[in-house]
Amino acid sequence: MHKHQGNLFILSAPSGAGKSTLYKALIGQDDKVRISISHTTRAPRTGEEHGREYYFIDDESFLDMIAEDAFFEHAQVFDHYYGTSKKSIFSMLEQGLDVILEIDWQGARQVRQLYPEAIGIFVLPPSLNDLEKRLTQRATDTTEVIQRRMAKAVSEMSHYHEYDFVIVNDDFDVALSQMAAIFTAMRAKTPIMQEKHGNLINDLLSL
Ligand code: 5GP
Repeated sequence: MHKHQGNLFILSAPSGAGKSTLYKALIGQDDKVRISISHTTRAPRTGEEHGREYYFIDDESFLDMIAEDAFFEHAQVFDHYYGTSKKSIFSMLEQGLDVILEIDWQGARQVRQLYPEAIGIFVLPPSLNDLEKRLTQRATDTTEVIQRRMAKAVSEMSHYHEYDFVIVNDDFDVALSQMAAIFTAMRAKTPIMQEKHGNLINDLLSL
């Protein structure tokens, strides 16, 4: 058991399931929850800010961080590196904050190996029809493009059973309250309460 009071959550979903809207709403109502910000070597897009969407760094710095074993997990996506630094996560967990990692099932496997206490949540869309609607970004999208996105989503969803919790994002408010309930319940796990309320527990047992 790590000496951290916060919990680490892995949040995965196929794109189009509404995962980011969910975690943003949760963060908006629970000041003990944070999203992990990744490092990347890709250039910022218009509107993106260093330290908000990503920490934007150059290749050399990224490779240095790999050599220093600074990453919790990292991957090469297209021509760029992406990774989650250990330091940023552990400092938040040590402050008692819950941290969400928004990663796919492959990243989730890497994280579970390093940190088996990580709690996995998988978000599913309410139907294939609904997913297709949400994946159709423009009227000009060809059937082929949409079918490719759907196939990728189905392949991601086939890993749902590797997670501790599943949320079907049909009614948004219901999905959000389920997510909030998971976070609340995980804070009451016995090892966490032992750490947090050690003095109280000693007192109560010292008659
Ligand atoms: P984008 O460049 O569009 O922001 O992200 C490209 C891809 O990189 C997405 O699939 C995203 O999920 C993935 N990605 C972003 N951050 C990380 C990270 O820290 N680790 C891993 N493994 N993938 C990431």
